[in-house]
Amino acid sequence: MSLSLTFHGAAGTVTGSCFRLSTPNGDVLIDCGMFQGTKTIRELNYRPFPFDPSSIAAVLLTHAHIDHSGLLPKLTRLGFRGRIFATGGTVDLLEYMLPDSGYIQEGEVERLNRRNRQRGRPPVQAIYTQDDAIRSLRRLRRVEYDRWTDILPGLRARFWQAGHILGSASIEIEALDGFGGGAAEPTRILFSGDLGPGGKSFHADAEGPERPDWMVLETTYGDRDRTDLDEAGRQAVLRAEVSTALAAGGVLLIPVFAVERTQELLYDLDCLFDGGQLPAVDVFLDSPLADAVTGVFRRHLDDLETDGDPFTRANFHHVRSVPESQRLNTLSGGAIIMAASGMCDAGRIRHHLKNRLWRPQDTVLLVGYQAPGTLGRLLQEGTPRVRIHGEEIAVKAKVRSIDVYSGHADRSTLLDWVEARHGVGHGLFLVHGEEAARASIRQALLDKGWPAERIAQPALDDRVDLAAPRPLVPADRHPRLGPADLAAGLDWHNHYAEALLALRRTLDAAPDDAARERILAGVMGALDTNEKAGKGTQP
Ligand SMILES: [Zn+2]
Repeated sequence: MSLSLTFHGAAGTVTGSCFRLSTPNGDVLIDCGMFQGTKTIRELNYRPFPFDPSSIAAVLLTHAHIDHSGLLPKLTRLGFRGRIFATGGTVDLLEYMLPDSGYIQEGEVERLNRRNRQRGRPPVQAIYTQDDAIRSLRRLRRVEYDRWTDILPGLRARFWQAGHILGSASIEIEALDGFGGGAAEPTRILFSGDLGPGGKSFHADAEGPERPDWMVLETTYGDRDRTDLDEAGRQAVLRAEVSTALAAGGVLLIPVFAVERTQELLYDLDCLFDGGQLPAVDVFLDSPLADAVTGVFRRHLDDLETDGDPFTRANFHHVRSVPESQRLNTLSGGAIIMAASGMCDAGRIRHHLKNRLWRPQDTVLLVGYQAPGTLGRLLQEGTPRVRIHGEEIAVKAKVRSIDVYSGHADRSTLLDWVEARHGVGHGLFLVHGEEAARASIRQALLDKGWPAERIAQPALDDRVDLAAPRPLVPADRHPRLGPADLAAGLDWHNHYAEALLALRRTLDAAPDDAARERILAGVMGALDTNEKAGKGTQP
């Protein structure tokens, strides 16, 4: 087979973006992302790659988000020796994001192995370390937007503005099929990467070439239309929330994502302070990663669609050391603290929440998507008590959510982007979306007159022959996980945690110890019956 494409991630799931383009002169990867979500899905990160990393000639990277770049250190650790091509913005972001990810992997495995030792289980190895991440950075090569870059003999690539985050790109690839020279037309493949919503403060709207032979389209919000506000509308929503929080006399705590969201908030606050729409209260950015990433944005001011430097003000304070962070505990009101992580599942935000959730005068403002099972989601759903670092905390602070910041194109913006490409020569692959999102985009395209046989929804590890375009069915299928494993929003680990919490709640609510003993006897009886039933079915 002279030209084929294999979907090693973001197929049947949103995360783990990784596509392998096989050509006669070598294989290249488009993205090499980490799987995120349930433990079942994350377990894929620990397994071997379904290809030999040393056989990969090059990687083309759409953007720096970890679900697109997060397994590059693992790829390098396992023998990849080629170049990683990315825009300057992406390269500069990765310099901080990959080592940070390595640090997180090391920490997670350390905690896991402590538990494994206690349970008499063998230790596991980190997916990669901070050192692996630093080594992988040496393989990065900068490319310019809108210009062809030679990748391999007979294969070149062009990066287009995707308007998603700093440095984000859609990647157009031109591959000569036989490489025998002569008049053969090259095959053109366009990978959308993640597409922005348009109308962002920092980036131009997404662009792209016309009528590629093949298109690989993200569909994250393929089943949702949002009412996107313009800059002034968005800032008005933020202003109202900040004013109310300050009027309550407490501190406003904003859990933030380090890349893009932090900088958008700083930008909006800067505008509101400048315009006198908010009093210039102190804003503490308490996240070393968000701080470093803001530094990258500052270095790329020329690439951003802003005037001046919106990230530097007398009342913006960058909190670096742990003692500095701890000193924020004594603030009683009239200030904003921004800390990572955005879903409250790690990082310094957990210390601040532990310190403030019980104070009725304080406010927590959620500004991004909160995944099921995260502390951020529990707060959003109005849970009255939470557990942080093993301590139970009553939630008395006000918890607010706003949905005016988005990094992703919604359904109609995705469809507009496809429309602007004027169709495809051979076929379109829908990826990077839950099944409902992919189905919704597919239906919309059918309604617009696209032939059904031009649209495919590849499954994990499907390989498609691009040299023999029709029919558009996988030439090869070796899935590492089945569709049910990928689609499940929650796996048994989540349900186990829920069951333990429910048991604890029931025991706490019981009137006396005798009642608690009866409840436990009932649970043990059910387990016993289950065990006997299990034995009964064995021959
Ligand atoms: Zn992204």
